[in-house]
Amino acid sequence: MHELGYCTALVDTLEELMVNEKLTKISECTLSVGEATGVIPKYLLDCWPAAIEDTKLQDCVLKVNYIHAKGQCRECEHEYVISAFHGHCPKCGSEDYNIITGYEFEVTEIKAQ
Ligand SMILES: [Zn+2]
Repeated sequence: MHELGYCTALVDTLEELMVNEKLTKISECTLSVGEATGVIPKYLLDCWPAAIEDTKLQDCVLKVNYIHAKGQCRECEHEYVISAFHGHCPKCGSEDYNIITGYEFEVTEIKAQ
């Protein structure tokens, strides 16, 4: 389980941001997490309280925006959600695809003072 590591890295990033932007508090943080990263949002949320304890982010609420991995078929160029079709192109049936979204792991929104 790497989620606690991701949480502490996120806390470091946000604390750095607070210093750079002279923020006194971040009350909410929205994180986009792609399916292809293998990160489980539920585990992230479970680890969050432990990760922010005794930091400047103590009261910060974490929100996770989960992004399904999309692939583009190498045969017919059709784009589809990989997990929904078990990696088979719904148009031509090929299992050959390039992952085009799903590797996201980024802060997309913060509410700060
Ligand atoms: Zn196809």
